[in-house]
Amino acid sequence: MSFLQHKLCISIALLLVAPLCRSQSYGPSRAEWTTPIAPFRISDTLYYVGSKDLASYLIVTTQGDILINSSLISSPALIRKSIEQLGFHLSDVKILLISHAHFDHDAGSAELLRLTKAKYMVMDADVPVVESGGAKDFAYPDDHYPAVKVDRILHDGDQVRLGETVLVAHKTPGHSRGCTTWTMRTVSGGKLRDVVIVGSWNVNGGFRLVDRPGHPASYPGIADDYRHAFDVLRSLPCDIFLGAHGSYFNMLAKLDRAKAGAGEGVWIDPDGYRTAVAEHQLSFEAELKRQQNVTSASVP
Ligand SMILES: [Zn+2]
Repeated sequence: MSFLQHKLCISIALLLVAPLCRSQSYGPSRAEWTTPIAPFRISDTLYYVGSKDLASYLIVTTQGDILINSSLISSPALIRKSIEQLGFHLSDVKILLISHAHFDHDAGSAELLRLTKAKYMVMDADVPVVESGGAKDFAYPDDHYPAVKVDRILHDGDQVRLGETVLVAHKTPGHSRGCTTWTMRTVSGGKLRDVVIVGSWNVNGGFRLVDRPGHPASYPGIADDYRHAFDVLRSLPCDIFLGAHGSYFNMLAKLDRAKAGAGEGVWIDPDGYRTAVAEHQLSFEAELKRQQNVTSASVP
């Protein structure tokens, strides 16, 4: 293509992208978020019922089931199908939890709660976002989804109990104010194992970690919150490493190894967990430094 044609293409592309930038939207859904994959067992009581990248987890107990992450507004049908493929029933879900209040993890909650009559339990600082259908989110107030009343407001360290299962809600804020990392113990390979389901550790594009004149931080204390979140993540004992997106824990590659004969042992990855926490903390610190340098360079 000619230079002029090339310039024209770039101009058109910029025109198309500009409204997305202005609207403070997370952007369009990605293909891997809605692509189904066969559900699978992670341990004796823990199952993956999400899509190719948006993670939903089913925890089966003798008193009913717990579901973590309702995902997109369109996801409940996929989640229901996955639960049924495993031989379980959506109607047995008694408690619905989320990793954090962004639309790719909580927009399906209204529909799932309608179908199950489950109790919705959300970390305190994410409750206003959930109950406003995303409107009170500091980063993506234009990503609206059905608002839902929360049944139980969780606080850092709270336990969610059902049957013999105890989940602990660890507040790991920054990515959202109430971002929640879930831990539990489960039996895998005949041994009791510590599970960590990372809420999120990412600093998304557009998050402002530093206050500068005319450009306040995304919310007061966000950088301290991220630091605290990494302190918490480093302190958690982890055998089975999971997260809100499959990409957090290299799910697809591990799944291939599981299918090739390695079995459920692939999910036991304490070294992978520690490495991933350290890498994401370095990314956070680098982004913080970059934003601080912009700030000091802009101040005469
Ligand atoms: Zn998010």
